[in-house]
Amino acid sequence: MSELLDRYQRSLIGVFGTPPLVLSHGEGCYVWDTDGNRYLDLVGGIAVNALGHGHPALVSALSKQAAEAIHISNLFTSVPQIELAERLLQIADAPQGSGVFLANSGAEAIEAAVKLSRRTGRQEIIAADGAFHGRTTGALALTSKAAYREPFEPLMPGVSHVPYGDVDALRAAVTTETAAVVLEPVQGEAGVVDPGPAYLTAAREITSATGTLLIIDEIQTGIGRTGEWFAFQASGIRPDAVTVAKGLGGGVPIGGLITFGPEVSGLLTAGQHGTTFGGNPLATAGALAVLDTIVQEGLLAHATEAGHHLADAIAALEHPVLEPVRGRGLLRAIPLRRPVASALAAAAREAGFIVNPVAPQAIRLAPPLVVTTDQLDDFVSALPDLLDSVKDPS
Ligand SMILES: *Cc1c(COP(=O)(O)O)cnc(C)c1O
Repeated sequence: MSELLDRYQRSLIGVFGTPPLVLSHGEGCYVWDTDGNRYLDLVGGIAVNALGHGHPALVSALSKQAAEAIHISNLFTSVPQIELAERLLQIADAPQGSGVFLANSGAEAIEAAVKLSRRTGRQEIIAADGAFHGRTTGALALTSKAAYREPFEPLMPGVSHVPYGDVDALRAAVTTETAAVVLEPVQGEAGVVDPGPAYLTAAREITSATGTLLIIDEIQTGIGRTGEWFAFQASGIRPDAVTVAKGLGGGVPIGGLITFGPEVSGLLTAGQHGTTFGGNPLATAGALAVLDTIVQEGLLAHATEAGHHLADAIAALEHPVLEPVRGRGLLRAIPLRRPVASALAAAAREAGFIVNPVAPQAIRLAPPLVVTTDQLDDFVSALPDLLDSVKDPS
């Protein structure tokens, strides 16, 4: 592997640092590196590999579609594209007159949402401290982390950030000049921070009063990750727009913007937005296979149950470094009382587990939705020894 990593370093731009492993293939919730070591993948390509690796339903849908047509451009449409849009509207409980724009990534879904918000005639957007909405320049303006933003300023004007989960702060910030409020139901990149469903219920009430769009970023939380199709559904609200990506394609790049109702859906008209690849037959056929499989295998209920199982099993360890698990469904963080997340992730990898040190004091788990409770238990059993083996960074 070290020779391949040398070649990586000499040939790729270093934005990701040097990765620790060269992976060759996967099967279910396991992946293998090029030296033949096996790992239990509890990150799932960052909440992307909803069906794990090599799921036969996804592989066969993609193989069949690849043989028929991979790309046709948006000068034309295809049956999988139409079917996927219909399915997304259905699982989002979107009313008549709603619509879908299909893109290739999360950031592109956010860009479409930003352009949608401009069509209200207002220019101000409110996002939350800790928010992550992507790395393209528009999405970056909504993202809050200084280290991501500052090298690229000035960014798109008109964006302000309010403390996440603070209803009073949101109420004070939103005016009739606010085009949109953009919120994650649970902040994944910030360390799986869950303000609880009442936050979005309040955000809906606040934005409705000022005619402001409520745009929910479900790129990480959507498509069953939290045990619902969309995390906003736990809040009992109807948003104006929702962004999706990550889990939707099960690994095939795809993103989308769902707009709710005819008024919002009519904001973007012919010629005002576009994409070459977005919504192509290959990606949409893959996404349809993911949605079908989530239904057939009961993965929404499973995500809820497996998530509870994980949280309970970790609590039962009663380990002094561990705090109660955060998050919903299979989007979880294990908070640590000491800043050892990176060392813990490295030790876990040595022991055959892939976990994500999302913050110095938190490990994020976003395993495939098909992960079994036995697989989760394998990690939980290994956790005390792993914790005892790591030292605080000096
Ligand atoms: C990953 C993520 C994005 C960006 O998606 P990309 O596909 O990396 O562009 C945006 N919002 C949230 C909540 C995410 O988790």
